[in-house]
Amino acid sequence: MPASRLPVDGAARRVGVTADEVRRHNLATVLHRLHRAGPLSRSRLASLTGLSRSTIADLVAELSSLGLVEEGPGLAPSGPGRPSPMVYARPEGAVVLAIELAVDSLSVATVGLGGHVFDRRRVARPREQASPAEAVRDVGDLGHPLLDALPPDHRLVGIGVGVVGIARRSDGLVHLAPNLGWRDVPIGKMVTAEFGAEQPVMVANEADLGALAELRRGARPGVHHLIYIAGEVGIGAGVIVDGEPLLGAAGYAGEAGHTLVNPTGWPCRCGATGCWETEAGEAALLRHAGLGDTATGLAALDALSERAAAGDSAVLDAMAEVGRWLGLGIGNLVNLFNPEVVVLGGLYHRFYLYLASAVLQGARSQALAAPWSRVVIMPSVLGADATLLGAAELALTPTIADPTGAGRAPAFRT
Ligand SMILES: [Zn+2]
Repeated sequence: MPASRLPVDGAARRVGVTADEVRRHNLATVLHRLHRAGPLSRSRLASLTGLSRSTIADLVAELSSLGLVEEGPGLAPSGPGRPSPMVYARPEGAVVLAIELAVDSLSVATVGLGGHVFDRRRVARPREQASPAEAVRDVGDLGHPLLDALPPDHRLVGIGVGVVGIARRSDGLVHLAPNLGWRDVPIGKMVTAEFGAEQPVMVANEADLGALAELRRGARPGVHHLIYIAGEVGIGAGVIVDGEPLLGAAGYAGEAGHTLVNPTGWPCRCGATGCWETEAGEAALLRHAGLGDTATGLAALDALSERAAAGDSAVLDAMAEVGRWLGLGIGNLVNLFNPEVVVLGGLYHRFYLYLASAVLQGARSQALAAPWSRVVIMPSVLGADATLLGAAELALTPTIADPTGAGRAPAFRT
């Protein structure tokens, strides 16, 4: 249950919730609002949460004593009365280390409450050096200096990891990451060991985290139904339904890249034929552009980018073909989930200019009129940082859900 919808005031007593639980829920509600929306006045917090002003004052005082918020001078009122003090989330009050393990890069960032990024590092890496131990060691080389640079009063509360694969959230096991060549890798435990972490290490799929970041930090604040399409080597989809991630029974949902779009298409690494990612993924783009057998990785994409910018007709035709398949798959998702927004990230963010027309045409041809009339398809505004910022949001979630840390650990959902 998101903090914004937790019970307020005495309403929960009717179902046997204790006063202490109500208070902790209300603390979460207020912190969640400040984390999402930025500074708010006490009076605005009261109107947003339905809590009384005196209750808000008490909650803000407690969050302040926990080091999670601070108050500053209020804005001059437009009417009579004193200005209501502004309340701010304190980024240093809860800091996380965010990690992204992608096919072509590793990245880390230290991020605080309110989504404040203290520092970040990203390095490209060749695809052939993708063993889990090497990757985690490289992440350590990137991450330790960022943690060492945090002043002593910055409180580290967790580590979030986004990985381009199928990850089990309960224990951070990467069940399968075909584009890294990994199977049953205990990334959560390995990252815990690398950093000697006492804080929780939470692991999730890159597209799910991209969706979470776009929901909380993206261009359309306030949407509740969002799909993030991550294109790197394969295609992943993170689906948010009514503000909550759609994870499936074990966190494996959203493998849209392996849904059938073309029964007479190309064989897929998963063993099937004509999967969405074989028709609309990176390999398809390079293949259609005539580079399929000779080039892979960032260098090939850079070459493709240069040729597209120069108006190379073979590359522009390849973009149109891949865009059409991408759009058909998006049309399927629009019909299934009726999203308000479909956000294109990764490869599709980079090449959106060239793909957009064919994507829209393909999606429109497949989608039913009713859901199509309500959806916006757009490139990510977070770009290459979407998954990394989503990993930070994931790792901040337990602190926001229970600011006192007194309750039992929340389920690792959002
Ligand atoms: Zn497949």
